[in-house]
Amino acid sequence: MDPFFVEPIARGGKYRLLEQSELPTPDPDLQFKIVIVGDSGCGKTSLLSSYIRGSFPSEYEPTIFENHRAFLQDSSQQHILTVDLWDTAGQEDYERLRRLSYQDSNLIILAYSLAAKDSLLNIPEVWAPEILGFCDKTPIVLVGLKADVSKKEVHPEQAHNVAKSIGAVAHIECSAKQMYNVDQLFNACVNVVYNQHQAAAREAARDSKRFSKGHFRIASNSNNLAAVGSEISKESRSDSCCTIM
Ligand code: GDP
Ligand code: MG
Repeated sequence: MDPFFVEPIARGGKYRLLEQSELPTPDPDLQFKIVIVGDSGCGKTSLLSSYIRGSFPSEYEPTIFENHRAFLQDSSQQHILTVDLWDTAGQEDYERLRRLSYQDSNLIILAYSLAAKDSLLNIPEVWAPEILGFCDKTPIVLVGLKADVSKKEVHPEQAHNVAKSIGAVAHIECSAKQMYNVDQLFNACVNVVYNQHQAAAREAARDSKRFSKGHFRIASNSNNLAAVGSEISKESRSDSCCTIM
């Protein structure tokens, strides 16, 4: 069985992490927040750190609470996205802080360690219910960390079933230590939030079109409402955004 899958919503362009010195001018509409959660010690901070710095951290730094603003340019060079990456602490004591982290998140990276079976068992037991409680509409990418370890405690099929059972949009194995699949993981995450943003923009455009047509239909279907309809049509004509048919 494939150790990972990527749903269509997580597919798309490749993104390059920009240096702060490149003085990026980000698209104001394209601002996203990605939060990583999972058991303490599964490798969350190391993953973020290795993605942002391009190498595995040499010293162990326990997480308290930190986040990082990244600027990413898509491969077509058209857009610069702002992505806030929020690290969290897995311990129960930090539940109140995690609650704040979930607010307005566009995507959750839900992590387990391939070297710790319990961390996978805790996905459906602890983490998926917590995420459902705070942000039930936010897409989840499941990530298996420490893919480099020789003694794996997690069978790919088990992890695959967990990913499907929680409705993850992708399931990827990574090694921050060996920089394996790290860029691929973040590309998939950014594609999810970007594709969702584009879909919402298309939906909003369709709604506004339906709205203007809807008013016209009221006016043509009912004599009593014809006057109201014509008033709305007049208003709409003066507003260059609306289409009158
Ligand atoms: P967190 O509590 O989830 O943030 O976990 P950390 O990032 O602090 O990592 C916990 C421990 O796992 C540290 O000793 C890391 O050096 C180690 N670790 C993190 N990522 C990897 C990895 O990809 N491979 C291996 N072998 N060890 C890792
Ligand atoms: Mg940490």
